[in-house]
Amino acid sequence: SPGGNVRVVVRVRKFLPREIERKAQCLISMDPHTQMTSLQAPKPKPGDVGKPKSQARGKVLEDKSFTFDNSFWSHDEEDEHYAHQEDVYNSLGEEFLDHNFEGYHTCIFAYGQTGSGKSYTMMGTPERPGLIPRTCEDLFQRIESSPSPDISYNVRVSYFEVYNEHVRDLLVPRTDPPHYLRIRESPSEGPYVKDLTEVTARNYAELMKFMRKGDVSRTTASTKMNDTSSRSHAVFTITLKQIHHDLSTDETTERTARIRLVDLAGSERAKSTEATGARLREGANINKSLTTLGRVIAALADPKKIRGPRKGKELVPYRDSILTWLLKDSLGGNSKTAMIACIAPADYEETLSTLRYADQAKNIRTRARVNQDQMS
Ligand code: ADP
Ligand code: MG
Repeated sequence: SPGGNVRVVVRVRKFLPREIERKAQCLISMDPHTQMTSLQAPKPKPGDVGKPKSQARGKVLEDKSFTFDNSFWSHDEEDEHYAHQEDVYNSLGEEFLDHNFEGYHTCIFAYGQTGSGKSYTMMGTPERPGLIPRTCEDLFQRIESSPSPDISYNVRVSYFEVYNEHVRDLLVPRTDPPHYLRIRESPSEGPYVKDLTEVTARNYAELMKFMRKGDVSRTTASTKMNDTSSRSHAVFTITLKQIHHDLSTDETTERTARIRLVDLAGSERAKSTEATGARLREGANINKSLTTLGRVIAALADPKKIRGPRKGKELVPYRDSILTWLLKDSLGGNSKTAMIACIAPADYEETLSTLRYADQAKNIRTRARVNQDQMS
């Protein structure tokens, strides 16, 4: 069917050393049969005096439950339902790649506070590769395992980040001062980054080389400049072109699919709206893309706004931030889209905010169509 809801999944990570050290309690439970994710209000620890900190501030914390399309339990490896990187790929990445070969655009984005496992899920580590390297590998495996005289393939890749409401190309060397790219909008393609490097990858090794190059460029910045990666949105895009030449009719058709994989900035940035003054300008700007993403999701999730009068369209504030403008199609248009809500096991307030955000995203419908052109 052309219309489909945004797929929303949730993944909880293991304890980090600092959480083990402070003897953190795991507040998350997941039911493997119903996919229900529950968040438990933290209980006061035996040594604590008086009310828990949160209650002292006048809020009463409650247990909350949410149900998503999938819940990935990656908290303790001993559990029989433990979700490995491979499991996440098999239940989401693989299916999305099927859609790409059918000619659909897709987008998978990771949302969550800093340290919740977004980069681990999207990129992973050399030993435990995440969705991006697995997608790249599977893509070329499929291309190479079905050689056909009448289909040829073209794979191109680009990689950019949105930092401080500026777009930076991750496939070109860093310059000082930094070189920022502009956004344009074409009637057929929608918003795009002007002059963005887009390179052809002929095989998996080449594609990985570009992925690493961009990743190095991103992390080099993060050690120099106060953790850029928690403040920047990284957008990795593969364009898969299938040129089908029918030998019997001599007709050529071209299918184009865009595979977009997005590692968002830490969601805690969306909330510090009280930030004022020049020193916090940077943080305030980061908030703009994330807070706008929140407003876009809220608008798209409200059917009154979408199906309303002709004006309805303008109620979705895509153009209010760089990120939402560029992801317009992925969020509310021609794309099959999934959101991975990454959560920490012992952080009640940030996790509740992420789960609520994810819950809202479930209501969004996109209108994906096969992107096919008759060439001759
Ligand atoms: P984010 O990108 O959201 O800031 P990271 O992906 O960097 O968070 O994860 C924070 C830390 O937790 C990293 O050390 C990462 O290796 C670890 N981690 C995250 N998710 C998992 C997981 N599912 N299994 C094991 N380690 C994880
Ligand atoms: Mg990260």
